Amino acid sequence: MRLAGKVALISGGARGMGAAEARLFAREGARVVIGDILVAEGHAVEADIKAKGGEAAFVRLDVTSEADWQAAVGLAASRFAALNVLVNNAGIGGWGRIEDTTVEDWTRTMDINAKGVFLGTKAAIPAMRRAGGGSIINISSQLGLVGTDNSSPQYQASKGAVRLLTKATAIQYAREGIRANSVHPGPIVTPMTERRRADPAVRQLMISRIPLGRYGEPDEVAYGVLYLASDEAAYVTGSELVIDGGWTAQ
Ligand code: NAD
Repeated sequence: MRLAGKVALISGGARGMGAAEARLFAREGARVVIGDILVAEGHAVEADIKAKGGEAAFVRLDVTSEADWQAAVGLAASRFAALNVLVNNAGIGGWGRIEDTTVEDWTRTMDINAKGVFLGTKAAIPAMRRAGGGSIINISSQLGLVGTDNSSPQYQASKGAVRLLTKATAIQYAREGIRANSVHPGPIVTPMTERRRADPAVRQLMISRIPLGRYGEPDEVAYGVLYLASDEAAYVTGSELVIDGGWTAQ
């Protein structure tokens, strides 16, 4: 098992890619703390993991709240005795042009997608130090690497911020055995993309931009996150793992 003995905290773990990562991590031997604002869905993922013989605990976590992060990291320590892996996965999407974007739209997205990663990282580092090291995986996007006309300014700015916050984390904490890497998924079949995937014109436009010609599946990202979480990636820090069907290759 690739994560045997490890304790992982996954934000936004109640559905979508975060839930796929929680299930995969548990199958690979990790004890998993699932943090999310979706309480019923989070408990359902916890129950599903336990029913399959894994270990998991749900905690209500709003990633914009420093107190919630302290509680989530505290739960990992009290229930499972350590914290070895943090996946900063929670995020919200958005579409629009700069002139149509309100300050509230901008602030909300930056708070969840960028400040949330900062707060999670800040809360996890002392616990990882106590554990003798750790791995932080920050979920950015292919839109943290390149621009597009088909997203929102605040989404792309937030995901670009995650990319460089990851490198700052990697450099500041490498000597303490704490690694940090960013993951850059392309369009993936999750609830986040559901409404737009249902629109044939948008779906066709997106597929025309993906060299592999299809949306990705949550597990296709989760396996990359699993690699970065595991000791197989012991020499990998500050890197960017692109899982985008070739979007950024063109
Ligand atoms: P999703 O909407 O299916 O799941 C996101 C999860 O984050 C939800 O469970 C939601 O409740 C949670 N969340 C939202 N705000 C939160 C908050 N304040 N505190 C705690 N949890 C919160 O989305 P997904 O597609 O699984 O996205 C996961 C990550 O991947 C996001 O960061 C997203 O930006 C990124 N991403 C998604 C795609 C895609 O095409 N789906 C592509 C690139 C990157």
